Amino acid sequence: MPSSDSEPERKPRVTQATLVRKARALLAYRPAGVSPQRRVQRRYTMRLWSVRHARFLEGLYARFAHVFLMLHPVWNAIGYARAERPVKFVERHVKGFMFDCRMCGQCILSSTGMSCPMNCPKQLRNGPCGGVRANGNCEVEPDMPCVWVKAWEGAQAMRNRDSILAVQKPVDQSLRESSAWLRVTAQAAAERKKARETA
Ligand code: SF4
Repeated sequence: MPSSDSEPERKPRVTQATLVRKARALLAYRPAGVSPQRRVQRRYTMRLWSVRHARFLEGLYARFAHVFLMLHPVWNAIGYARAERPVKFVERHVKGFMFDCRMCGQCILSSTGMSCPMNCPKQLRNGPCGGVRANGNCEVEPDMPCVWVKAWEGAQAMRNRDSILAVQKPVDQSLRESSAWLRVTAQAAAERKKARETA
């Protein structure tokens, strides 16, 4: 029956499901600066270069980590929390360019042949799923080489090649979007201090 003029206009009902759907869209995790379209456009050139030069990058990172550790008094003076923002900015851009880093905050590149496991659409941290294609590409993104096939290739070139066999912990989501460089440095400094005290 058509509504009469005197009847108040009905507002659309906002259900609990609508609210949850809206909140989910807002809260969904979006990897920083990486979209599937952008990844296709870049053709994984830099990522694959990094894997091919895994041994060189392993040595370079070891020296870099050493310098960062030497700077521990500086980070301490500034405050690790205050240094987080600028360091994270640099880390995001450098690692984003070289590895398509997703800023998981718990970097395991030196155990995965310089192939970032967070680029796996299933975000597997302990080897490939059973869906690797015959040509070594991903079953979800057919034009993308499987990050774990590349990880194995990269690891074979590294000095520390067996570290790929280490079982990795599940991703700690609370560390996302934080600097892995600073965390590793703080941990190394704490271990060094403890070793000195014990000695
Ligand atoms: S493992 Fe994490 S921190 Fe390391 S490159 Fe990948 S997303 Fe970035």
